[in-house]
Order: sequence, then structure tokens, then C-alpha cells
Amino acid sequence: MPVIKNVLIWDSARGDAEYGDIEIGADGRISGISGAGASVGEVLFDGQGRTIALPGFVNAHTHVSMTLLRGLGEEQPLMEWLQKKIFPIENRLRAEHIRSGADLAMLEMISCGVTCFADMYYFMGEVARSALASGMRAALCRGITGDDGGKIQENIELAEEYNGRDGRIIVQLGPHAPYTLPRAALETVARLAKEKNLGIHFHWLETKGEFDTFKETYGEEPVDYLESTGLLDVRELILAHGVWFPEGELHRVRRDGVTIVHNPKSNLKLGSGYAPVKAMLEAGVNVALGTDGAASNNRLDVWDEVRAAALMHKGYHMDPTLVSAKQVLKMATVNGASGLGFKDVGLIKPGYFADIALINMDSPQYVGCDRTNVPEFVTYAGSSRDVRATIAAGKLLYRDGEFLTLDKDEIISRARKHRNEITN
Ligand SMILES: [Zn+2]
Repeated sequence: MPVIKNVLIWDSARGDAEYGDIEIGADGRISGISGAGASVGEVLFDGQGRTIALPGFVNAHTHVSMTLLRGLGEEQPLMEWLQKKIFPIENRLRAEHIRSGADLAMLEMISCGVTCFADMYYFMGEVARSALASGMRAALCRGITGDDGGKIQENIELAEEYNGRDGRIIVQLGPHAPYTLPRAALETVARLAKEKNLGIHFHWLETKGEFDTFKETYGEEPVDYLESTGLLDVRELILAHGVWFPEGELHRVRRDGVTIVHNPKSNLKLGSGYAPVKAMLEAGVNVALGTDGAASNNRLDVWDEVRAAALMHKGYHMDPTLVSAKQVLKMATVNGASGLGFKDVGLIKPGYFADIALINMDSPQYVGCDRTNVPEFVTYAGSSRDVRATIAAGKLLYRDGEFLTLDKDEIISRARKHRNEITN
């Protein structure tokens, strides 16, 4: 039985952290937690009492293959950036580019302790194979734009081929956004999602312009539109951004299966604004964290989102007591996992999958960290450079700079070649 020995364990269901050994069963789930040093078994990792074990981070909204587009069209407004820079290059991407970008993203996320992500793009079979090869967990959808039934069909085929694969892949339907998809197509997607028992991942109220013209453009208020198109009735609805979600309407999305994914750094970089996270939390909405794509962040490092989310709302509201480190780490772990439809992921407790990030407390910035202050040290002092190892479904993916499932050098050289191809 593999054991993670002598680590300081914290997850969002705990108050103080506790020292212990984490035992992992053959099914990749945590089979038990015992006193530090008490477990016998094959040592997967020995924390020596100086390592924090956190649930693996969940990047609940991204476009992993956009790692190949990183740095293009910097510092432009969202619509200009998309239309002038991103869409023309995306038209040139082929399947092998998507795979390269996805593989590159797996390296980055795994080295940051991220074990699970939600992705919307195209050629998604490539992303599924990349995630499966890397050992990560993923919720995938084909971005659907226009009234092109072909894209819906591709998304359905993705679900038929990969939904549930290895217990690590979930497939959702991916209508891109209200402004890229006619209402009738969205209604078709919502109906198919219900028929086929699939969730939906949707960009939602990212910019002020989108919100200001919503009623005029779509004939009803935003949450009425979610309701009347049938989106609120699907098994899981992942709403990316919600920067301009009307605060008084948040209670209407406080329900099982609906998650708003806060992407603080992308929203800041694109000048989209500050999502009303304080109001979301007060309304009891399930809030998760995402990085968005690497062309608008430009990192896939969820630690950065954790720190940004914990800081920016305090500054915006001039109140240091709100959006706490504990709340943000909950968003970055179990809220994300459950929001994407993964059961038993995001906590370190028996029965849950062993998706774990191991953090080096020998780093200088952890002096003073003890059982009582782990989430605050992680959020305000820590960063992904302290990640020593990443484990998903009980399997070691990364340890001390070394990738155990992926060939880093090959992936980077292939990505360089593909980057040149698409930009020249
Ligand atoms: Zn996005």
C-alpha cells in the first residue's frame, strides 16, 4: 500500500491542520489517515514532518492549448484581442498544435500542484489524450459557436468517446458565450445536455459591455435568459467569469450543480473588472477558481489566482476580513472539483481520491507555519515554487522538478516548433 508519510495535512473541511500519514488504496483513493510515521507500506513520498499536503488545485476554467498563443496581442480589450489577434490564428490551428499546447499546459499545471482542470476548445480529443497521458483529471467540452450543428455533433462524439474514461475525464457541452451562439442553438444544446445527462460550460457576463447590452440584445435579463434557455436545469452548469453578474440575482444560481468560476487575473489583465465574489459567497453560490487561457493570464498557475482572489476583493471593498484564505483555498480545490462534476475529489479524507499537492515547508517563507495557520501561509506567503510533488488518483506525476508521466524536453521542443508554425 503506497503511503505519503509524515505530512502536515490541511483541506477546507478542517480547522487546524494535522500531522499524519496518508494511505492510498489500489483504486487511487485515500484508504486511511494515521498518525505521523505510523503507516507501513511502500513510501510514495516522505514528508519528514516538513511538508504540507493540500488537495490538488483545480483550474476550473481554461483553454489549455492557448499556451501556444501566449504573448500574442497583449494589452488589448477583450473583443479586439479576440477578433484581431486570437481568432485569425485559431483558424490556422491543426490537431497537432492543440496537442502540443495541451501537453505544454500539463507540464505547467502539474508543476504548480494542479491536478484537475476544465477546458473549452476544439480538437478536444487531443486534449483528452493529453490529460489521460499526463495523469491529470479533466472536464472537457468542445467550444460551440454559431448555429453550426457540426460542432454540437463533435461535442456529443467527444462525450461518447471520453466521458468517464479512466474515472478521470468528464465531458460537458460547451456553448461558448451568449454573443457567439444564437439563442436557438443554445436551447438545442441545453436540451441535448438534459437528454444525454451532460453538464454545460459557458462563458458568462465577462465584460461590462456584455451586461449593458444584454436585455436589448437578447430580449430579457441575464438570469431570466439562463432560466428560459434551459441552462439552469442541466446536471452541472459551469459559468466562467460572471464579472458583471447582477448581485441581487445571485440567489437564483445558488443551487446544486451551478458554479461560477472566478478568473481574477484574466479579468484584471483584460480590464474586465472585479467579479462580485463577496456577494457570491454571501448568497451561498458555489464559486471556483480558474486561470482562463494562457493568452489572457498568462499563467496556468492556480496559486496566483488564489493570492489574487484573496487580495483584490479586500482592496476593492476596503475590508481585510472578507474573502478569506480558507474560502479561497476551498474555491481552488473542492468547490472546483464538485462544480466540474467530480465526486470524492478535493478533500484529503478516506474515500476521496488521492489528488494531492505536497508543499516544501523548508522554503524560507514557511518559517512560522504550523498547524494553526496553513491556509494563510499558503495563500499569502506561498507560491507554486514550493510545490515538491503532485499526485493525482494516487499516482505520482511530479517530484522535485522531474515529470514522471511526461517528457518535458520533447514537449517543449515540439511546442516551440508549432509556435513558429502558427505565428509565421
Ligand atoms: Zn475563457
